[in-house]
Amino acid sequence: MSAAREDFDAALDVAGDRARAWLAGLGERTVRATASADDVRAALGTELPSGPSDPADVVRLLADAAEPGLVATPSGRFFGFVIGGTLPAALAADWLVSAWDQNAALRAASPAGTAVDDIAAAWLLDLLGLPAGAGVGFVTGATMANFAGLAAARDFVLARAGWDVGEHGLAGAPRVRVLVGRERHDSVDSALRYLGLGAPEAVAVDDQGRVRADALVAALGAGSGGPTIVCLQAGNIHSGGFDPFASAIPAAHAVGAWVHVDGAFGLWAGASPRTRALLAGAETADSWATDAHKTLNVPYDSGIVAVRDPAALRSAMSYHADYLVTDATYLEPYERVPELSRRARSVPVWAALRSLGRSGLAELVDRLCRHAAAFADGARAIPGAEVLNDVVFTQVCLAFGDDERTREVGRRLMADGTVWMTGSRWRGREVLRISVSNWSTDDTDVARGLDALARAAAG
Ligand SMILES: *Cc1c(COP(=O)(O)O)cnc(C)c1O
Repeated sequence: MSAAREDFDAALDVAGDRARAWLAGLGERTVRATASADDVRAALGTELPSGPSDPADVVRLLADAAEPGLVATPSGRFFGFVIGGTLPAALAADWLVSAWDQNAALRAASPAGTAVDDIAAAWLLDLLGLPAGAGVGFVTGATMANFAGLAAARDFVLARAGWDVGEHGLAGAPRVRVLVGRERHDSVDSALRYLGLGAPEAVAVDDQGRVRADALVAALGAGSGGPTIVCLQAGNIHSGGFDPFASAIPAAHAVGAWVHVDGAFGLWAGASPRTRALLAGAETADSWATDAHKTLNVPYDSGIVAVRDPAALRSAMSYHADYLVTDATYLEPYERVPELSRRARSVPVWAALRSLGRSGLAELVDRLCRHAAAFADGARAIPGAEVLNDVVFTQVCLAFGDDERTREVGRRLMADGTVWMTGSRWRGREVLRISVSNWSTDDTDVARGLDALARAAAG
């Protein structure tokens, strides 16, 4: 056997063993890390070796030093932020993506990569209830998906106003008005900043953080009819609430606005007949952003942008270089995303969808919602606990009396380590936020979470 092959075998054996051990330990281990970043730095050693090391030894050192500093985010007892776990088929497919090491930018560079892109894209549009002909790009997350969708929006509304951004940039361009809900995700603001659009105008929201259609209509009416983008949200990170697409989108379209939907985790409501109504009307928007690394439970990092008019996505993202062998009739992967070189990011998405099938995905979404509802019901029975949101999807926001008390319950819960839930501020109050995003969370995990909450609240 060649030295290179022996090196691969030995290093991959260590990685495979350590990955299996990590996954096997998730059921019982404390969710929080037991080592600090400083501990991990010390265990790794900060001195760069003057010469080569054995590859298997490098992987072993990494696993030994890093594991205590890992948070068990793929555990069924992790309810912090909005972070999904990893489905087995998606994880294994992701390993193959690394081994194959394809540059999936171009069909010529990876026929298989683009074939999988095309199938996964068509399945996603179908499952999420989006228009079949939309252009789909596989990006790193919803921040970049928002960026790509809003880039198409910016270029399109300015082109209609007679301004070519690609040619002239933004200096001297007509002002683009961007309207967002007051409780949009902050990554929308950063996407707008990257695009040179500045800070958006915030529209009033209701008690669940949803854009108020009347406030949006008033804001649209106060404009001059110039280039306008409206960014709506499917899935508020605190309440799980969905903006009123059926009234907001026609109002925005009536004044010629482009409508983008940030549905990082909420767009997956479209995959289940039970939750689909939450998205009613969202399919009439012009662009959509979602994550596969949240609700779909694909390994990090994986986001998806879809744009109704594929030409608008291409004109915002694409460029020509003589060495890039393209086909005028085919929208190459690199023409739909900000990156050129990219891993075959659609492969784990395809594997997740292929392993779940239509009913499995619907069942996954339903299960996450059912667990969130069980958390809310169980929490209502804990003395002093209050459920602050209408639990319509996967998010639950709790308070325990005043802000100091809520913070204290959160601190105790984290010290206990059985589950992880994150503190936040919502509607002027300190809250403890439960996000059910992991495919492997089961009834026992929810029961253990409620017990841990009751212990923390009783102390
Ligand atoms: C997580 C999230 C984002 C940002 O997504 P990343 O994948 O972290 O880039 C944007 N919007 C919403 C609503 C989110 O939940």
